[in-house]
Amino acid sequence: MFVHNKRLMYTVRVAEPNPMLSSLLLEQFGGPQGELAAAMRYFSQALAESDPGRKDMLLDIATEELSHLEVIGSIICMMNKGVKGKLAEGTGEGELLAEITQGGESHTLSLLYGGGAALMNSGGAPWTAAYVDTIGEPTADLRSNIAAESRAKIIYERLINVTDDPGVKDALGFLMTREIAHQKSFEKALYAIEPNFPSGKLPGVPEFTNKYYNLSQGDGDALGPWNSGEAWETVNEFADQVAVDGGDGTATVKLSKAEEALVAVAADRTASDPNGDPMTGAELGAGPGSGLVDDEGVTKPRKQPKAGRK
Ligand code: MN
Ligand code: MN
Repeated sequence: MFVHNKRLMYTVRVAEPNPMLSSLLLEQFGGPQGELAAAMRYFSQALAESDPGRKDMLLDIATEELSHLEVIGSIICMMNKGVKGKLAEGTGEGELLAEITQGGESHTLSLLYGGGAALMNSGGAPWTAAYVDTIGEPTADLRSNIAAESRAKIIYERLINVTDDPGVKDALGFLMTREIAHQKSFEKALYAIEPNFPSGKLPGVPEFTNKYYNLSQGDGDALGPWNSGEAWETVNEFADQVAVDGGDGTATVKLSKAEEALVAVAADRTASDPNGDPMTGAELGAGPGSGLVDDEGVTKPRKQPKAGRK
């Protein structure tokens, strides 16, 4: 069950209203790297998790992310509190218009949501469950969680860099730091599973797990631990990069006689004639720049319009 405590996880001290900045903070309220996405990611993973340690961790962190959602949402609401009152009571039209149209999505936040924190990102795109990429396999989900935490940390860092309000900077610094802590927990949880690579149960096909296909060749070809050294067998020759199974590299399927006949009829009906060169609409209307030429190799001119009537 959930209970709610009226005290925030971190005290929110906003120095002054700032609808424009608040619309940027929406990125961490209803954006892909935001707190709602994080909370739903870990909450849905926790429900399906049967390992007691991981389940506990996921529920702890999911609940903390909801608490972060409350902090970031409260900052957004504090930044819009002045506007909210003015919009509700209808005072100072000209000044109010200027206040809610400073940029970002501040006007949407004000007009559509009355200065409340909306479940959208800083560009106005509504929150979507598509932000959660849970796949139900801990070694894959933990890796995704690690990446999600590092992305959330980066968004907080960028927000801190555009904020001059010390109280907001302070709270964002806390939220950013907690994402670092979460990443550490997920890393430990991943490596507490042995082995954890590759994800899942099936092993890779031995002859392909250590191959590095050098498929972008030319100036700039580079060597690094990701493609050279004892762990790798680099494949440079084109002949060794195609049909690597040793087959003929074509795609085939076994069809029934009836299916085969239908496919043949359709292919026959839509066959191209490589020897035909029919006149087309493009040529009929061709003019300079069309790239179309007549028998003498001269660009086919568009018919000149007749001179004006006498
Ligand atoms: Mn968080
Ligand atoms: Mn987190």
